[in-house]
This record gives sequence, C-alpha cells and structure tokens, in this order.
Amino acid sequence: MTLGLLLYGNWEMSFEHLVFHKAWVNGQWTESNSGKTFAVVDPASGHELARVPDLDAQDTRNAINVADQAFKSWKNQTAKERFQLLKNWHQLIIDNQPALAELMTMESGKPLTESMDEVLYGASFIEWFAEQGKRIDGDVIQTPSSDRRIITLKQPVGVCAAITPWNFPLAMITRKCAPALAVGCTVVIKPAEATPLTALALAKLAQDAGIPDGVVNVVTASHGKEVGEELTRNPIIKKISFTGSTPVGKLLMKQSADTVKKVSMELGGNAPFIVFDDADIDAAVQGAVTSKYRNTGQTCVCANRILVQEGVYEEFVTKFADAVSNLAVGPGTNPDVAIGPVINQAALNKIQGLVDDALNRGAKTLVGGTTHELGGNFFQPTVLAGVTSDMRVAKEEIFGPIAPVFTFKDDQEAIELANDTEFGLASYFYSNNLPRVWKVAEQLEYGMVGLNVGIIANEVAPFGGIKESGLGREGSKYGVDDYLELKYMCLGGL
Ligand code: ADP
Repeated sequence: MTLGLLLYGNWEMSFEHLVFHKAWVNGQWTESNSGKTFAVVDPASGHELARVPDLDAQDTRNAINVADQAFKSWKNQTAKERFQLLKNWHQLIIDNQPALAELMTMESGKPLTESMDEVLYGASFIEWFAEQGKRIDGDVIQTPSSDRRIITLKQPVGVCAAITPWNFPLAMITRKCAPALAVGCTVVIKPAEATPLTALALAKLAQDAGIPDGVVNVVTASHGKEVGEELTRNPIIKKISFTGSTPVGKLLMKQSADTVKKVSMELGGNAPFIVFDDADIDAAVQGAVTSKYRNTGQTCVCANRILVQEGVYEEFVTKFADAVSNLAVGPGTNPDVAIGPVINQAALNKIQGLVDDALNRGAKTLVGGTTHELGGNFFQPTVLAGVTSDMRVAKEEIFGPIAPVFTFKDDQEAIELANDTEFGLASYFYSNNLPRVWKVAEQLEYGMVGLNVGIIANEVAPFGGIKESGLGREGSKYGVDDYLELKYMCLGGL
C-alpha cells in the first residue's frame, strides 16, 4: 500500500513521487549492511509512514569514502558551474513546494502553512549561497619586504558532516549543505530519525538537478550515537555542522577534538521576549504569539520566557491569553490549523512536567495547561502567569506550546532576568523608545535580537548563538566561512 493511500483512503497525496525508503549514498538507494530498518511515524496519527534503513558505523564510513571521492572532482568545478547546479536544485525544490511541504508535515507534524513557508525558506539558502559561491575571493596583501609577495586563497575544507534536527527537516539541511556545496565541499547528512523522508527527497532532487553522485549523501539511522561517533572520529571529515540539543552538541565537540575538526553548533535556546511599557501592545501580542507558537513551540528561537513590565502587564496578558485561546489545534495537514502535535510522547510528557512544576510552585494557568482532547501527541496551547525564576520553565528550553509570563519593574531588572541563563541564541523585545532600544539591545547577551519583531531568521542574516547556544553563524555572507580554509602563500626571492 502506498503512503498516500495508507493515510488518506482514496485521496492521493501529491508527495508520493518524493517518498523514498532507502538511504542515499553515491547517488543510489542503499540498504543498511545489517538489513535493519526503523519506522518513520506521523506524530498526528501515530501511524507508521515508512521504514528506512538503520545505518551503522560501517555504512557511514562507506558514505564518507564516497563523499571523499566525489570531493576530488567537485572541488575542481568552477564556482559558476556549481552555481548553475545549485540554481537547478533550488528551482526543483520550488517546483515541488506543495509536495515537500506535505511530506514534511506528515513526518514532523508541522502545520502545512508553516511547511510551505519552510520550503521557501530552505530553498532561499541554496539560491543565496549559489550566488555567494561566485564571490569567494582571496587577497593580495601588501608586503613588509620588497622581495616578497603575499597572497591568500580560500579553499573548500573537504568532506563535511551535517547532523540535523526534526523541527526544520528541510531548512536545517539546506542551511548547511548549500554553503558547503557552493564552495566545493561534499556532504554526508545524518537527518533526525523522526524526519528522514524530507532529507531523502531533497537528496534525490539534488541528483535530478545534475549535482554529481557522491556530493550529497544521506545516512539514515534510528539513533545518532553510532553514526555520530563515526562522523566525528573519521579523519576524512573536516567539518561537522550540528543543529540540535546542547548536550549532544557538547558531546560532538568532545568527539571531534581528537581529529581537530572545524565545528559549527546551533544548540538550545531560552529566548526572552520582553515587553516594555512604551511598546505597541497589540503588535507585541501578535509578535509573542508568532514567536512562541510557531511550529507548535518547537523551535530553538521560540520565545521561552515572556517578560512584561508591570504597568502594561494586565493589558498584555489579557490580550495575549485571548489570542492564544483562539489558536486552532489539529493535525498539521488541516490547512486551518495553527498548532499541530508535538513530535512524540516523550516531548508531551516533558512539557506536561514543566507545566506541573510551575503550577506546584505557584504559577497560574490562564489558557490550556494539559493535553488536548484530541489525544495522542496534542497539547493545549498554554499560557502560565505568575511565573518566577525558580521554576523549571524559566531555566529549560520548553520546546512546546507553553508560554510562561513574568513581570519586571525596570530596564535593569529586565536585562538581568533576560541574561540569567547559560543560553544565548535569540532574544526579542518591544519598545518604541529609541535610546532604550539601543541600550537594551547592546546589553542582551544573545547572538540575535529581534526589535519589535517576533520572527528574525532569513538567508541573508547571520543566524547563531553565543554562550552555550553554539558556535559559528549560518546564512548571510558569513555562513560560508566555516566551509573554507584560508591558505597564505608567500612568494619570495623577487
Ligand atoms: P532533539 O532533542 O531535538 O531530538 P537531539 O540533539 O537529540 O535533539 O537531536 C538532533 C540530531 O542529533 C538528530 O539528528 C539526532 O539523531 C542526532 N543525535 C542525537 N544523539 C546523537 C549522538 N550521540 N551523536 C550524534 N548525533 C546524535
């Protein structure tokens, strides 16, 4: 039975031509050596969507060797040739936007409108880096001695590993692979076990676009540990780019130390969303809803703590609770839905635990607070008031549709509360007072600051965190740097 028929009776989904059940190595569909497979499950229904091969260290080594072979010729193509192939890939992704979006929603639970947006967002990195790849120039540097000349070259680092999460099954892959490919690197991708199907579809479209076999490889695995050990310890891999949880990121950094790999880490966040008393409250409410509840609260840049100044607290909280109680909950395939399921039962249990802890310590529920009547992995969009710093929701990344609201008196308290975390990814605040905007933005210890805006990621801006939220930047003109080595050549005896 086909995937579409299995799930929707007679309704043939448009994504069937992009559903593949094998790993992708050297431009071929590949089984695991062990013959083992694992299930990909629809978080909305609990149905098994497909089974894909469960690759081990030896399979991963094979993919790395393939990528190493492909690197020898890919790095020697001209930037313009690579540009054209990446543009073809970009176009094929755009052409398949609805199919890719449906596939993504099926395996991740993401509301369909957001999946449609993610396809465009993910594709935008390919277009951007295709262009940037043509502008990777070295320098001729003025020399301190007249008999010498100094030149720099930028060269691709080599074979790169990309380990990606399930919450952006497409964009986290393109944000890493597009700069790698644009400058001449090849890649081995380890997608999240929950969302390998989108990764496999992307890889097939790369081949259809004319990107040579072996340049893009996808190793599917039911857990990251064994594949991750091979990707980090194998000396052929020169760079590892990871998006996921902070504990796994730290582990990968440790494992990468013995072979001194370049590492980029996009890790957890604990984003403050500050509403000052001079803010446009309606705009702040709108921004908070978008920032908090996007992807059912499951992004690393989602507002994690909403801090509201005392004088506007009542107005903000009343309007915010009202807006949240109107969010439609249901399967992401329903185009009217704003809140889908969380990814799995463990995630559901975790967020229920966070809510219970807050309520036990004195917080109050304004909206939601427990699992949704739909059952399964559905949780009610929730607003908690009276939240304090000792509660787990203040310290941990929530990754679910729960908004804890705090109050503060003045700017200094807001900044201290906002910075009171080991994380430093995204932050947001709303104010119409220009000196305050400038001063607060400078003092926030975060890699990214949204000023009167709740969504800040795009392909031209440098995305990344400080403190324990990560290393390196993705997107923007800086996003290629980690995929390049700078070589200095000194020409003497002139
Ligand atoms: P999340 O909690 O969002 O699932 P993880 O950090 O566990 O975040 O997962 C992000 C990615 O890291 C996934 O592709 C996952 O399979 C992978 N992963 C998890 N554990 C390891 C590990 N020990 N080594 C390498 N990759 C891992």
